[in-house]
Amino acid sequence: MTARRSGLRSSRYNFCVPLGEGDSVLYNAGSGASIRLAGTDVAEIVKLLCGPPRNVATRTIPAALLASLRRGGFLVEQTLDEVAAIRERYWVARGRTPMVLTLTTTQDCNLGCYYCYEERSRAALGAADIPAILDWTRERLAASGKDSLHVDWYGGEPLLNIAFIELASIALQSLCNELNVSYSASVISNGTCWPDDVSGFIRRHRIRQAQISFDGLKANHDKRRRYRRGRAPEPGTSSFEQAVALVDRLLEVVHVDLRFNSDRGNSDDLEPLVAFCRERGWFDRPFPCVFQLARISDYSARSGFMSQAKLSEDEFERLRERARHLVPNENNLDETTTRSIYPLPRTSVCAALADDSIVVGADGHRYRCGLQVGEKNRPVAFTRKDGPMLPGPDAPWWDAFDPTRQPNCSRCSFLPVCWGGCPKKHLEGDTASLHEQSLYWRKALPQKIAWQFGVVMEESTFTFSECDQFR
Ligand code: SF4
Ligand code: SF4
Repeated sequence: MTARRSGLRSSRYNFCVPLGEGDSVLYNAGSGASIRLAGTDVAEIVKLLCGPPRNVATRTIPAALLASLRRGGFLVEQTLDEVAAIRERYWVARGRTPMVLTLTTTQDCNLGCYYCYEERSRAALGAADIPAILDWTRERLAASGKDSLHVDWYGGEPLLNIAFIELASIALQSLCNELNVSYSASVISNGTCWPDDVSGFIRRHRIRQAQISFDGLKANHDKRRRYRRGRAPEPGTSSFEQAVALVDRLLEVVHVDLRFNSDRGNSDDLEPLVAFCRERGWFDRPFPCVFQLARISDYSARSGFMSQAKLSEDEFERLRERARHLVPNENNLDETTTRSIYPLPRTSVCAALADDSIVVGADGHRYRCGLQVGEKNRPVAFTRKDGPMLPGPDAPWWDAFDPTRQPNCSRCSFLPVCWGGCPKKHLEGDTASLHEQSLYWRKALPQKIAWQFGVVMEESTFTFSECDQFR
């Protein structure tokens, strides 16, 4: 131990969060370790360990604290390349992330939300597509040795092609039975065209989570999520009432993420919408509802017109803050809004980066990210009527994407908990959104750390600076 003391330096992933009354937390984003510090030496220790990595003479550090600092990765060998260590972890995660098969049952939708980025068409998957989907799944399961498959039913409005769900779900479940692989599913829906036997549908298709979208209370929701011409079951049908009736039933049998799509035009609906959820008892049901705050955004090249109505990162953070006060319990909030989920370094990647996951478009082409479905040049594999699939132009980019080699992310101290945020934004060169990701972590990380030590920190109390982030 003595021989090594001169060989240590501070980690580039150290952060300090003041808790008030002289106490601070030392947190390391690379290991996820945190230590509460109190006493007169705190300022000195923080100065020594946070900021640009520097060699540390450890003689004056008490032995017990020194051992904790080394165990927690706050002090590392001078020869350790910390970015390379995160890179290694990232590539392992791409291979290990559980397998997700996203099936775009149809590109069609019965609603015409004004911000919708989807290219609506009648393209839909059918029985003839199932053998190729089964072949791909069987091959990936065999090659990866994975023991679970998760299917995400996606659209358009996926329930408009319920015939396909019925066939493909049963076929995929049989395949999993045959291979002794566990099966689960989820669905993203507007909640307007579900079968009468909701619980039978959920059970039969082993759906463990449903996301139902709302655009506010009835007036805003019905105006923004109106039925397309000739698509309402009856004239005057309210898409809000349809979705509400569905959520009432779903919460008896399955986890529901109630997604509130917010922008500058409907953000004032947050309070009444949460109050509505409370009145209906949605937070107290057998499966308590999770309130998911989402920001309507220019998700794809086709929705650039949204930039005017989109809430800025600051406005959206204020909305998050309001949601935290309104929703009864932190457990009823989504992952990015809640402070109660401790910021551990990441060990999995989004489905778009996972080696064994794929999105099948309603056009039969294969994509990495669901938000790209229907975008002309974005498939990573094109289907052809006769012959094998053709690789798409972006395929090599997805295969090679590595946040630890991106110019900003590689020098960012949030890297182990962020891993570059959304890779699609990197592909599109969307630097504004990537900057917002930085702003998110500067505010959210101290709150999440403080929460674990029983301190409820508001955004205005403390945020990390640009210097904390880039060293
Ligand atoms: S916060 Fe920004 S710079 Fe840092 S890793 Fe995430 S995307 Fe990259
Ligand atoms: S994080 Fe980005 S690339 Fe990954 S699935 Fe989500 S939207 Fe797609």
